[in-house]
Amino acid sequence: MNPALAADLADLDRLLSLVRDRALHGLHGLDRRPAAVAPVPPLPLPLPGQGSGIEGALAAFGERWEPGFSGSAGPRYLGFITGGATPAALAGDWLASAYDQNPTAGIDSSAPDLEREAIGWLRELFGLDTVQQGAFVSGATMSNFVGLALAREWLGEQKGLRVGEAGVAALGPVRVLSGAPHSSIYKALSMLGIGRQTLQLIPKQPGREAVDLAQLEAALQQLGGEPAIVVANAGTVNTVDFDDLAAIAALRERYPFWLHVDAAFGAFAALSPAHAHLTTGLDQADSVCIDLHKWLNVPYDSAVQFTRRRDLQARVFQNAAAYLGMPGENPDFVHLTPENSRRLRALAAWFALSAYGREGHAEIVQRNIACARDLGERIAQEPRLRLLAPVRLNVVCFTLSEDPSEAHVQTLVRELRDAGEVFMTPSVYEGTWCLRAAFSNWRTTHEDVARVMKALQAALL
Ligand SMILES: *Cc1c(COP(=O)(O)O)cnc(C)c1O
Repeated sequence: MNPALAADLADLDRLLSLVRDRALHGLHGLDRRPAAVAPVPPLPLPLPGQGSGIEGALAAFGERWEPGFSGSAGPRYLGFITGGATPAALAGDWLASAYDQNPTAGIDSSAPDLEREAIGWLRELFGLDTVQQGAFVSGATMSNFVGLALAREWLGEQKGLRVGEAGVAALGPVRVLSGAPHSSIYKALSMLGIGRQTLQLIPKQPGREAVDLAQLEAALQQLGGEPAIVVANAGTVNTVDFDDLAAIAALRERYPFWLHVDAAFGAFAALSPAHAHLTTGLDQADSVCIDLHKWLNVPYDSAVQFTRRRDLQARVFQNAAAYLGMPGENPDFVHLTPENSRRLRALAAWFALSAYGREGHAEIVQRNIACARDLGERIAQEPRLRLLAPVRLNVVCFTLSEDPSEAHVQTLVRELRDAGEVFMTPSVYEGTWCLRAAFSNWRTTHEDVARVMKALQAALL
């Protein structure tokens, strides 16, 4: 054995407790670490010939890289939609690496059954029917990709062909309709050979990001009975608007389409009694995308996808090999998602749900929503700022009252970042440059909201 490797093995207890100390240093330091930093990468080093063991690597990491890391796991990182990692989620994630299980196939470990249990719990958490079957993927982009791959296979089924076998060209033109799709929908369409340009944007309701139902119906009618794909959005990233999922699902009685719902973070509205109605109809979707590294607060990379048509899923993703067997009634995960071998990422979600249950996670969601509302109220009272939309859930979308040009908004974003108290991301809503403050971290409190508002006001001076 290589001497550095042998030395690490011989001293594993002490070394791993150093790693634990480093992790705690990072976690306890979150409050002092800037929410975000301007990236300044250190000078590159050549590949080490003789490695320096864990201790050397730890020192080099601490010196060269760790100072440039953001506080994205902390309470005032409000950029994108970003969760942190609850203590139990972190524990599960560590153990996933320590045990290093590959849940692909069920012939050597019960790890895949743990993943199935976690999926069952998630299904219950979001109020989905047991006909919705799921698998873990690396993020909402992959979850959307899987859902749309199933939609593509379903289109083939309508024409009596198997797209997985015959290829996407056999399908002919594909129709995809959506009101305000996330950028990852376009990416998935590109990866699937359907093409970004295929997506037909349906007009939204006035002053809203929710699709106009009459316009959607008119577009479906124009297809003259041709099967299509409809992507409904449950939680848009700028104003967290929701399509009327139940009404869209009901249109399937008159028009043939596959209903995919991107509920990446919006599905968590189900955990707030005051907002649960927004997710009504989610269950009726043919495929559903839900991110977990956002509002479940598990570490990257984790999301789940659900579908009512697991049979189609095995058609698309089957990985037939003598040593793996063919997909049967209850296919192994290797036959269900783009990846073959992968980590047991379900363990972090399993730990989180075991440790805090439905109520613990509902409390996080409700507190985040209350914090967003709090910030929205403070911004509404600040004459130099203007809300661009009501705070519907966990995102505050606002801009400068005067001259919200790209340059001014970008300057404000940079100044906020460089002051270190808070990070928000810029966006464009209905042609207006704006900022988004998205609340999805388990640590965030109203005290943080007060600090965020102070930082905003200081940056406006
Ligand atoms: C974040 C997000 C995605 C993409 O998620 P990743 O986890 O970054 O892959 C897709 N849809 C919506 C609505 C999102 O908020």
